[in-house]
Amino acid sequence: VIKVGSSSLTYDTGMVNIRQIEKLCKILSDIKNSGRQVILVTSGAIPVGASKLGLAAKPTTMPEKQAAAAAGQCELMYIYDKHFLEYHHKVAQILLTRDIIEKDELRTHAVNTFETLLKLGAIPIVNENDTIAVDEIRFGDNDTLSAIVASLTKADGLILLSDIDGLFEENPKDNPDAKIIPLVTEIDDHIRSIAGGAGSNRGTGGMAT
Ligand code: GLU
Repeated sequence: VIKVGSSSLTYDTGMVNIRQIEKLCKILSDIKNSGRQVILVTSGAIPVGASKLGLAAKPTTMPEKQAAAAAGQCELMYIYDKHFLEYHHKVAQILLTRDIIEKDELRTHAVNTFETLLKLGAIPIVNENDTIAVDEIRFGDNDTLSAIVASLTKADGLILLSDIDGLFEENPKDNPDAKIIPLVTEIDDHIRSIAGGAGSNRGTGGMAT
């Protein structure tokens, strides 16, 4: 399972980083050709849709976020479909909400869909179903969503592609000499305080996840 964040897929303008997406699709296609099964968890629907609809890069109201996600999601899928097709790979869209964790029936449907798509050689492309993801059923961020997808599908690994390499003692954007912390065995107040918030005006995860 590979998760890519909004700040890696888009520019500050909210428009797509074409080179980055092309590179991502090429590399994932190659990994797939090597015989591995690939699931992509993508963010980016909100910033891409916001720029398409002429909204602020990170809309603040829920209806605006949902509208932006709806507009951006189809543009993202169009781009992924186009690039993966160049390498003869087929993609399929899966939009999830958090209730797949609690409701056995929903979870079974989700697992069946993943398994069947993988068996058929498709690359499932996953995002949160932002249109109906109100607080109670929100994953909150796609780092969490990708961890749940990895566990549902019994993946061998989960890779988070982000604009930050991990947890640093200080924010490396403020101090380029900040040291990375390679292993965290316990999350305490100190760890929380150095992790900070989202690293960009578009992403949500940053060092905290
Ligand atoms: N579902 C959101 C989007 O596609 C992303 C949420 C996140 O990145 O954590 O814009």
